[in-house]
Amino acid sequence: MPGSFKTEAVVLRSIRYGEADRVVHLYSATRGRIGAIAKGSRRPKSRFGGRLEPFFRLNLVLYEGRGDLFTVTGASTVEGHGRLRSHGAALGAAARASDTVLRLLDSGEPNRAAYNLLCSYLGLLDSDPAAGGAPGAALAFRLKLALAAGFSPELANCASCGEAEHLAAFSGAAGGVVCASCEGEGFPLSEETHRFMVDALMRPLSGAPVAERPVAAQADRAITETLEHHAHVRLRAAA
Ligand SMILES: [Zn+2]
Repeated sequence: MPGSFKTEAVVLRSIRYGEADRVVHLYSATRGRIGAIAKGSRRPKSRFGGRLEPFFRLNLVLYEGRGDLFTVTGASTVEGHGRLRSHGAALGAAARASDTVLRLLDSGEPNRAAYNLLCSYLGLLDSDPAAGGAPGAALAFRLKLALAAGFSPELANCASCGEAEHLAAFSGAAGGVVCASCEGEGFPLSEETHRFMVDALMRPLSGAPVAERPVAAQADRAITETLEHHAHVRLRAAA
């Protein structure tokens, strides 16, 4: 049924459209992924100002017509993330996070945990832009997002046979850590990387564990291969 509704949302991508319009890809608190057109938003005196840009967190009024795209009829800023925007490493991290959300959460089903996580990560990058250069927080975000989307890797027991000991490898196909007998399916996973992934899932994002390069590379591969096999998405490197 056509009509208007309000929701909070984060702008993931903003594309120029026609002479003066903009199409925005949004991740919303109450309707999951949304595509919307903001008519006249590129005119100098547009009532939307500059806030329909990536990484703005907004209160929106949207009109749902018969087409695929909603129409933005009102927008006010919840968080502009101005510090994030002026820091290269933080901008890069926010862009990779948005890209991951675009690929992993493409339905109109609301996922409040994923929305809150995205807001937390953008807030973290804004309050501490240097965190954008730290792979620990970026990988923790991706792991927690995988969990929120229902694709968290198995880290407690062998994902193939259930064995709880000698977990020295990781298999994306099996969807988690694998034991010495099932190792043939995976790649070697160090104890440090295993511990990093468990800690990253347990701790709040702002207290994400530090990941040195070899650990970060293994964790990135483990998450990426899990999502390739089980969510059928290909992601760019997390950090
Ligand atoms: Zn096993």
